[in-house]
Amino acid sequence: MNLERENVTQANRSEASGQSTQKIVVGTSLLKRNDEQAHKLRENFSQKSILVVNLLSSPGSGKTSLLEKTLIDLQKKIRMGVVVGDLQTDRDAQRLQNRGAGVVAITTGTVCHLEAAMVSRSLSSLDLDSLDLLFIENVGNLVCPARFDLGEDYRIVILSTTEGEDKPLKYPFIFQSANLVLINKMDLAELADFNMDVACENIKMVAPQAMIIPISVKKGLGLADWYQWLLKHYETKKEYPINKFAEAVRH
Ligand code: MG
Ligand code: ZN
Repeated sequence: MNLERENVTQANRSEASGQSTQKIVVGTSLLKRNDEQAHKLRENFSQKSILVVNLLSSPGSGKTSLLEKTLIDLQKKIRMGVVVGDLQTDRDAQRLQNRGAGVVAITTGTVCHLEAAMVSRSLSSLDLDSLDLLFIENVGNLVCPARFDLGEDYRIVILSTTEGEDKPLKYPFIFQSANLVLINKMDLAELADFNMDVACENIKMVAPQAMIIPISVKKGLGLADWYQWLLKHYETKKEYPINKFAEAVRH
């Protein structure tokens, strides 16, 4: 079930047989299966009017810290649940326990991204009828999570100032699929020699559709804007539960 591994195996085979198109076919069938699962998830979420947000970033950019803070600050306003994907441990899920939200961990083992089928299985541990908003914390990785639709309404990419301004240019695909880019660790921007103007230019170059909100989870900077974004989209979701646009964009 590892896309990279399947591709590599197939690429070797293709090389031997001289058929360079083979590896694309295998990847496509895996993604097609995933898209079908994601479609079912999206229908299910829509029926229950749950806003679903897929959080993507490299390891250590602050996905779990952001969620921790968000669960605390918004728990009196909306009912939230979290699906947390990690390679080996459920440490992040544990960090999010007792924050007034349902939390379920997916340990992917060697798979470096979440797939719709994994999310689907994990949902049996959550009471969807009691949720307004579901966060999916993807595995920390800026490459393949971009290719796997999880039935979400929105994708949020977190870029931290300590990673440098050039990440959007190096990993354009993940930024291209983002609705919102949160630039985290703004409190460290100066120390990290991070040039905000260049970062925004780079994001706009590859992802003109993405909104940008600078934040610092640690210092609480910009979080009001982030909450406003969430609450606004939650209201829209209640009014228009079926997000056909998300599906059209993902596939
Ligand atoms: Mg995490
Ligand atoms: Zn992967």
